[in-house]
Amino acid sequence: MIVAIDGPAAAGKGTLARRISEHLNLAYLDTGLLYRAVGKKVLDAGADPDDAVIAEQVARTLQPGDLQADGLRVDAVGQAASRVSAVAAVRAALLDFQKDFAANPPAGFSGVVLDGRDIGTVVCPAATAKLFITASTEVRAKRRFKELHAADSTVIYARVLEDMKERDARDQSRAVAPLEPAQDAKILDTSALDSEQVFDQALAFIASKSQKA
Ligand code: C5P
Repeated sequence: MIVAIDGPAAAGKGTLARRISEHLNLAYLDTGLLYRAVGKKVLDAGADPDDAVIAEQVARTLQPGDLQADGLRVDAVGQAASRVSAVAAVRAALLDFQKDFAANPPAGFSGVVLDGRDIGTVVCPAATAKLFITASTEVRAKRRFKELHAADSTVIYARVLEDMKERDARDQSRAVAPLEPAQDAKILDTSALDSEQVFDQALAFIASKSQKA
């Protein structure tokens, strides 16, 4: 079984993917981490995330251990990830790893769940079930603000909202694999739902799809 979960930042993809992976015994790959690891290495090297040559070089030499690096979740790395992810050669370099994970789940699992921006459209177009998890920009910015503010009380909501809008615009408008729902994806707007309701609806959809498969 392959479950593909896509959607914009802070829509609740990660929480949902983790719960689904535990409930259905699926191995979980957070593909955003791959782009974050590339973005962080480019920043650490003092280079510009818009520098396509360097970003490609980093993506080609990425090691599994890079996904365990500290600081991958900070906002500056998220922004850098969004920049390097617009480079076609970076996406190509990371595609094989993701396809391979989906085709060969680690031993003991009944399949995989991947979350990202282009899982249903590019990485796993034949996935058993595709979900597109979204929420209004304001709701997502508030959720992200709450997370960031808990760790750093100097974080300002207006700035988080601006960053969110900027990242959404970049992810949606890039030429390669832009953020968009697959035609056969179930779109779940989580603006007015709690995580339990999102989980129940997602599970019901996956069950309906696996029965057909
Ligand atoms: O999901 P997360 O916020 O960790 O992703 C960081 C960035 O990586 C996103 O803003 C997006 O630009 C990029 N990304 C992508 N394709 C994926 C996963 C993430 O382009 N499959």
